[in-house]
Amino acid sequence: MGSKGPNIVVVGAGAAGIIAAWRAASMGARVILLEKTVRIGTKILISGGGKCNITHAGSVEDVLKGFRPNEARFIRPACYRFRNDQVIEMLTDKGLEVYTRPDGRIFPVDQTAKDVVAILKTYLEEAEVDIRYEHFVKGIDVKDGRVSAVRYQKPGAEEQSLPADSVIVCAGGSSYPNSGTTGDGWQWARTLGHSIVKVTAALAPVYLTLDDETATNRSGIALRDCVLKARFGGKEFARWRDDLLFTHQGVSGPTVLGISREVAERMRDGEVTLEIDLVPDKTFEVLTAETLTYVSQYPKRLIATFVDEIVPSRLVDGILDAATLPKDLVAGRLDKKSRNRLVTVLKGWSLGPVRTVPLEKGEVVAGGVSLDEVDPQTLQSDIVAGLYFCGEVLDIAGDVGGYNLQAAFATGYVAGETAAKTTFKKS
Ligand SMILES: Cc1cc2nc3c(=O)[nH]c(=O)nc-3n(C[C@H](O)[C@H](O)[C@H](O)COP(=O)(O)OP(=O)(O)OC[C@H]3O[C@@H](n4cnc5c(N)ncnc54)[C@H](O)[C@@H]3O)c2cc1C
Repeated sequence: MGSKGPNIVVVGAGAAGIIAAWRAASMGARVILLEKTVRIGTKILISGGGKCNITHAGSVEDVLKGFRPNEARFIRPACYRFRNDQVIEMLTDKGLEVYTRPDGRIFPVDQTAKDVVAILKTYLEEAEVDIRYEHFVKGIDVKDGRVSAVRYQKPGAEEQSLPADSVIVCAGGSSYPNSGTTGDGWQWARTLGHSIVKVTAALAPVYLTLDDETATNRSGIALRDCVLKARFGGKEFARWRDDLLFTHQGVSGPTVLGISREVAERMRDGEVTLEIDLVPDKTFEVLTAETLTYVSQYPKRLIATFVDEIVPSRLVDGILDAATLPKDLVAGRLDKKSRNRLVTVLKGWSLGPVRTVPLEKGEVVAGGVSLDEVDPQTLQSDIVAGLYFCGEVLDIAGDVGGYNLQAAFATGYVAGETAAKTTFKKS
């Protein structure tokens, strides 16, 4: 053992692992941070499109609104222990300037995610965390109900064992596997007796059942402020209002990310379809009245021109097709039935069935180590002493908005703090 005391081994140098390692080390513990890849904070680097939506503004209770009730209950103690304003203070203390968007998301002003990671690295260095890159953790050993060692492998070398008094598992989820997260933590947790809640995509794009021509025609079109709805057996079960982007495979953007988890979950039971309300601020009746006005004012103009004022030009043909209206139809010839079909489509344009919600493309995954077997006050396993879980490896998935990094930072902080206190008490 080093002069600073027993080993706390933190596995995974993402948001949770960085903060866990820093917190434990700054309390005087000897901390070794094992990272599979060649850098820390890979997902932070790609977060918020490289800008990093660090956390969410408001009270702790506001932050907790970004999670499902059981998840919010679980992370509440940690989020009070290491609050969003403390996260920001930690970064601004070292020169980061931040601003809050009207929707509550907090970003660096001119700097980027790179600067956020650089600052976090400074904290690790100041606290003398021993960071070991290209250390691929293979498993965790337990002796007499308590963690005893971490097994790891370096490239081209044999598997080795590192004695540990506490192990903090921060190996993340399984989206963006190229960034290093391949669900390894769940395997170790399962082997050690933990239940893993079924993993599904969350904050992910949605792939639709589209023919190539339609996909190509729509790809790249952005819709501003629409309502995306998901239906199962004809019944709506999820909706999100914001922007939407058509991709080559289907749809993406905030609306899609917002409902993707519920869509992925519901698809286990059968077919899910999507539809868009393209004019969410207008009721069916108001839109009908506007259509009638247009018809009476411009009877000789194409009805396509009316639609063009509502949706991006490249979508006009698709809308007319969906309403079974000919492209050369003039307004004066729009009869009542046709008008109703058009308004119906504008208020609920069907995108057809969902093909899949690709788990690996999500910003996070839902599911993971069951919250029922981890103590929310300490993040320690109820099954194995000295074992901690924090961040995305847990069954937690917040909304878009900085919530997920906040959950990782807060749970990491508490795990690091508890591990340091408990380990010292033991020795
Ligand atoms: C594209 C994208 C954009 C995002 N944008 C935002 C955003 O703006 N705001 C926000 O709040 N959230 C955002 N998120 C989500 C957020 O990044 C994650 O929720 C958060 O990083 C999870 O932190 P974590 O520490 O639990 O896991 P991760 O950050 O995934 O870190 C896990 C670490 O463990 C390492 N590891 C895995 N297995 C092993 C092993 N066997 N041995 C050793 N090391 C291992 C990995 O290499 C990785 O470094 C985004 C995610 C993505 C993919």
